Amino acid sequence: MQYRYWCGECGFSTGWTGETEGRLQLLRHCRRWHRGIPVGGHRERARGRADRWGGCLVALCVGLALVVPAVVLLVLLV
Ligand SMILES: [Zn+2]
Repeated sequence: MQYRYWCGECGFSTGWTGETEGRLQLLRHCRRWHRGIPVGGHRERARGRADRWGGCLVALCVGLALVVPAVVLLVLLV
């Protein structure tokens, strides 16, 4: 899983990276630019390959659910 960490004090964000590396990068940034302020901000999670496949499967199922009844109707009407 890839994460991107955003600074709570400015617009800084780390690149997409692992959890530990991202946290370290944000920590280093805060230590350098916001000394004396507690480390804040939020973490953004990248959608993984599994999530994309899940989305494709859902789209496929919805597509089939729409196409199959249409084909059945056509066959019955002709
Ligand atoms: Zn910052």
